[in-house]
Amino acid sequence: MVKRRVEPPALPQRIDRLNELAVDLWWAWNERARDVFRCLDYPLWRATAHNPVRMLRTLPPERLRVAASDRSFVELYDAAIGRLDESRSADETWWARHGVEIPGRCIAYFSAEFALHQSLPIYAGGLGVLAGDHLKEASDLGLPLVAVGFMYPQGYFHQSVSSEGWQEEIYEQLSWADAPVEPAVTQTGERIVIAVPLGERTVLVAVWRVRLGRAKLYLLDTDLEENAPWDRELSARLYGGDRETRIQQEIVLGVGGVRALRALGSDPAIWHLNEGHAAFVVLQRLREALERDVGFDAALAEIRRTTVFTTHTPVPAGHDAFPFNLVETHLAGCWGSLGEHRKDFLALGHYDNGGGPKFNMTALAMRTSNAVNAVSELHGQVTRDMWGPLWPDLPSSQRPVKALTNGIHLATWLSTEMSRLFDRHLGEAWRAEHDDPAVWEAILDLPDEDLWAARRSLRNYLFAFIRERARQRWTQEQVSAARVVAAGTLLDPAALTIGFARRFTGYKRPELIFHDPERLARILNAPKAPVQIVFAGKAHPADDVGKHHLQRVFKRALDPSFGGRIAFVDDYDLHVAHFVVQGCDVWLNTPRKPLEASGTSGMKASLNGVPHLSIGDGWWAEGYTGTNGWLIDGGVGADDPEAADAADAEALYRLLENDVVPTFYGRDAGDIPHRWLRVVKEAIRSVAPQFNTRRMLKQYAQRMYMSSLDPRTQPLGSTRRAARP
Ligand SMILES: *Cc1c(COP(=O)(O)O)cnc(C)c1O
Repeated sequence: MVKRRVEPPALPQRIDRLNELAVDLWWAWNERARDVFRCLDYPLWRATAHNPVRMLRTLPPERLRVAASDRSFVELYDAAIGRLDESRSADETWWARHGVEIPGRCIAYFSAEFALHQSLPIYAGGLGVLAGDHLKEASDLGLPLVAVGFMYPQGYFHQSVSSEGWQEEIYEQLSWADAPVEPAVTQTGERIVIAVPLGERTVLVAVWRVRLGRAKLYLLDTDLEENAPWDRELSARLYGGDRETRIQQEIVLGVGGVRALRALGSDPAIWHLNEGHAAFVVLQRLREALERDVGFDAALAEIRRTTVFTTHTPVPAGHDAFPFNLVETHLAGCWGSLGEHRKDFLALGHYDNGGGPKFNMTALAMRTSNAVNAVSELHGQVTRDMWGPLWPDLPSSQRPVKALTNGIHLATWLSTEMSRLFDRHLGEAWRAEHDDPAVWEAILDLPDEDLWAARRSLRNYLFAFIRERARQRWTQEQVSAARVVAAGTLLDPAALTIGFARRFTGYKRPELIFHDPERLARILNAPKAPVQIVFAGKAHPADDVGKHHLQRVFKRALDPSFGGRIAFVDDYDLHVAHFVVQGCDVWLNTPRKPLEASGTSGMKASLNGVPHLSIGDGWWAEGYTGTNGWLIDGGVGADDPEAADAADAEALYRLLENDVVPTFYGRDAGDIPHRWLRVVKEAIRSVAPQFNTRRMLKQYAQRMYMSSLDPRTQPLGSTRRAARP
């Protein structure tokens, strides 16, 4: 009844754990494991966009037999398998030394999306990247984290752009045989299927497992034959549906997620809700407690002690809120066990965010959490101001919202070129201790020649990638010559390259740089100091404003007056993101302040020596030091958007004309831009130790998780040390 995973390919005995390595996404952030697959068949590695599961399935058995008797390959294989086994043990991790002992228990982490690898398209953008990086870091640090999300068999859409520049969404059915997922089973080996009451009916939910070293992710999937056709579609796509679909998805995530964990035999000590989408976890936990005859108030107190919540959205309209009749309809099957407390539950979500009271998922989460955090210092202030009615007696500064700034998972986002350079010049410690600023001081002594050579290689990889994608469009779809140009074929590998890749939506102002097109054309076409821009990004399928921005940017890329120096790379995803954040020279970010909660793409870029050129919003408000990139500040507040756009655009042009471009093209006799590399080094030195998930996860552990654990539990360090001689 449940779709079965296709049997993995038979492997020669000497290398028979390759399948296991391929389905544990741990390989994706461990160079040695990646090398195993690269060496097995490099052209196929590239052709599958780095999908080892698909690779192993398509490789001829003969090729595998040859590999099994190739000494150097077997050595690589043994080293990777050795590391994999080490990566799964829980001894000697940061958590073992500094955490809290919760024997047999775990921290549950709920999120509607996870960006782990392009072979698992269950993410849309920044929120998913943060959740994915959170899991990878939890695995590295040994936090006992178990995550829950959605399988989305059709994932997020692939983007195709018409010759008119209009985004078309293409949903592809996931090929199960090629995805790094396995059916989840109970402790006695039975396939897990759980039931979720939705309205008057019951929907069955299958559970899949994704391995990530020490961490695990469980994915919910309603596409079962037993379900009605519309219920099978419920979890088909990420953010694809209307309000009705959304609330039903959220009930499946919250109620079904708790049930799935119970079926797995897991007993979370902490429940972390990443964004309001997961807040129905609270509903299911209340139902469980009431079924055990715990009173409503006692149950709520217990939930409040053990729930933590992260909010990501500084825009009031961005928070999920449902009309009460919708909640009543879809929760009809859940009310029974809540008995007389239905009204009390509805009151927990009651909130008026403008437009009358609704059932607000963020309000529900905030009212039922022990600790709440926003994702940057500035976003902390915005959140405290915005949710004032929840704490009517407290002045803004005292409202209990912590600021815990986002970070990125270093091993995921750092290029191989840069990590080799760091290996040579920073000493061994930088990998394990990269959240220690002292480790990064030696960056300043890096020889400029070496750093510039690494930067040039990364730029070349980006251009090779862009040309290859343009070639595909040309050969497979016979797009027009103008579109081949717009895809980036005329880009100059030696010219200063600005990168702008993220979701296309109004507040991110993707068109700010076109405010004065003639002035921009002069900057781009300067004969001795040319500049070019690489754009990429999807608009949300329901965001017509975002799609119009995208269309106009695309038309600029087609426009000959910019000389082929503007490229639009379609179908932005993790794979494209890796090439652009590593291969451009400057990373542009122009949000309307303060609407960017944090942003993370600029961190990825800075880490790779691509300095940030940004409005002082989100993380950049605390990350900019004066020497590690550039701050765009037109000095006009958000109350007058048009004036702010004009002033910010002017500030951007001035920075480009007077600072960014001359610094990049200021070369010595050997064609090395020393002043530029000084900025590059400062970017790495200041961003790498601070804006990574290692620092972030340690803070989550200390300020959110441990502070919410039962005070009777012992700090691990103390018991372990006492037990040792
Ligand atoms: C990092 C990343 C994002 C987030 O980008 P921001 O500029 O921080 O909004 C979105 N999508 C993908 C694929 C990413 O890798």
